[in-house]
Amino acid sequence: MSDDTIFGKIARGEAPAKIVYEDDLCLAFRDLYPAAPTHILVIPRKPIPRLCDATAEDQLLLGHLMLVANQVAEQEGLGDKFRLVVNNGAEAGQSVFHLHLHVIGGRSLSWPPG
Ligand code: C5P
Repeated sequence: MSDDTIFGKIARGEAPAKIVYEDDLCLAFRDLYPAAPTHILVIPRKPIPRLCDATAEDQLLLGHLMLVANQVAEQEGLGDKFRLVVNNGAEAGQSVFHLHLHVIGGRSLSWPPG
């Protein structure tokens, strides 16, 4: 599957990013336009465009991404005060079509989101 998104390029080391964690399956880096004092994106190396494109084959990978999000939140000193967001599809606010989990924290967070 070709993936010309900016996150695909970051995953392949073809574009720069402030990486805070990486392993064989995923990486985490600072959002270029942070929506909060801490705003990290966790992405799989596998080019899954949207969460709704994931299949049963991706079950372990999806669980791994969430555990990495936990680890990153701890690493960033967020304790238990953070939010995970996945925007799925353009109408839900997705602008980069390579699956990513937003880890957001460092300020008070209201509900519901806009
Ligand atoms: O969920 P959504 O697709 O809108 O999130 C994309 C995120 O990627 C945004 O928070 C945006 O700030 C971030 N971004 C980035 N570096 C880029 C382009 C977008 O960190 N070059």
